[in-house]
Amino acid sequence: METLEILVKTQKIDISSFDPETYRKDFPILGEKVHGKPLVYFDNAATTQKPSSVIDTISDYYRHSNANVHRAIHELGDRATTAFEEARKKVAGFIGAKSERQIIFTRGTTEAINLVAAGWGRKFMEEGDEIILSEMEHHSNLIPWQILARETGARLRFIPFTDEGTIDFPVFEQLLSGKTKLIAITHMSNVFGTINPIKRIISMAHDRGVPVLLDAAQSVPHLPVDVEFLDCDFLAFSGHKMMGPTGIGVLYAKSRILENMNPYQGGGEMINSVWLENATWNEIPHKFEAGTPNIAGAVGLAAAIDYINKIGMVSMTLWEQELTTYALDKMSEIDGITIYGHAPERGGVISFNLLDIHPHDMSHLLDQSGIAVRAGHHCAQPIMRKLDIAATTRASFYFYNTKSEIDYFVEQLKQAKSFFGY
Ligand code: PLP
Repeated sequence: METLEILVKTQKIDISSFDPETYRKDFPILGEKVHGKPLVYFDNAATTQKPSSVIDTISDYYRHSNANVHRAIHELGDRATTAFEEARKKVAGFIGAKSERQIIFTRGTTEAINLVAAGWGRKFMEEGDEIILSEMEHHSNLIPWQILARETGARLRFIPFTDEGTIDFPVFEQLLSGKTKLIAITHMSNVFGTINPIKRIISMAHDRGVPVLLDAAQSVPHLPVDVEFLDCDFLAFSGHKMMGPTGIGVLYAKSRILENMNPYQGGGEMINSVWLENATWNEIPHKFEAGTPNIAGAVGLAAAIDYINKIGMVSMTLWEQELTTYALDKMSEIDGITIYGHAPERGGVISFNLLDIHPHDMSHLLDQSGIAVRAGHHCAQPIMRKLDIAATTRASFYFYNTKSEIDYFVEQLKQAKSFFGY
């Protein structure tokens, strides 16, 4: 119990007064009807909805400030550059980074991890070195390391997950060795909802001089995350999972590591001086941002951070905890339901199967009732293989969801049983 315990102990927030209705009106899409029914959006782990402030900020950027960044010597260029660099500062502040130089804008979590595998991994990994991952990784934090291992001769080692969907610590301790060069692990599982005890993992890794990369795609949008407190070496997350637009994400890394890494892609922006045969690199973070960046995306992400700060991340987290406990209690009462993942510390992601109703049939049926959930392997096929199932249905919440939406969802699950003849 680290993250949530700290939250509850240090923040005196009375969640009983939290009313999601206060915020729902900020999200135009939440008023949509789907198949004639009010939308119940429970696919937040895939992507979240956007408040008007984010939509308007992006639109205003294009209406009043659009230009290319950094090199333009005109007013609009100044506006665009200022907005882009202010967004970088905002991101740094949001995750507690010491400097905005540690913030690299990417397309998302996936690109951020690929950047580390290419820029750090290709330079520092050698044959026989080991990378420790867990068995509960999203493909984004698995495939880049598979490719790197193939290229360098490095070996991947995997921390198993337990029946509860938690990290098997004794095995982790055995896997850590003089050969370990990196640990790359998810902060919060997008299948089980498990919040991994990252601080403990990082401190064990650092005792042996091993850097740690956190896949924070599911944690940064839902929990207060402070990179200095965690002392992680790399951290990756996506804007679209925290109310920002798609196509923008972040890699944070410690400055000394970034300075020693190779560039990821070559092109404009990332250079200092260029000759026909060679070139020198720009300073961090620009060394890793070749080409025209997603300026509007960064500006939209900054607006999303403003929105989160207005509500307060701790309130959002605690409300999601409340919703998740409520949903788990109600869902557990349904005969024949299997819920995957029972970690003591968990976020608002619930994967389940109901009898042998196929998740695709289930999500189709729920869709007819206006409820958006996800069905499939959730980009985590190794988890499905180990559980010996093809897929699950996954409901995932955000602070704008309500208990009455959960009541309706549970009611529809019960009706699905009778629809399929149980
Ligand atoms: N890691 C986790 C745990 C995720 O849940 C996701 C997306 O679902 C990703 C990585 C990939 O994020 P993106 O597709 O935004 O790059």
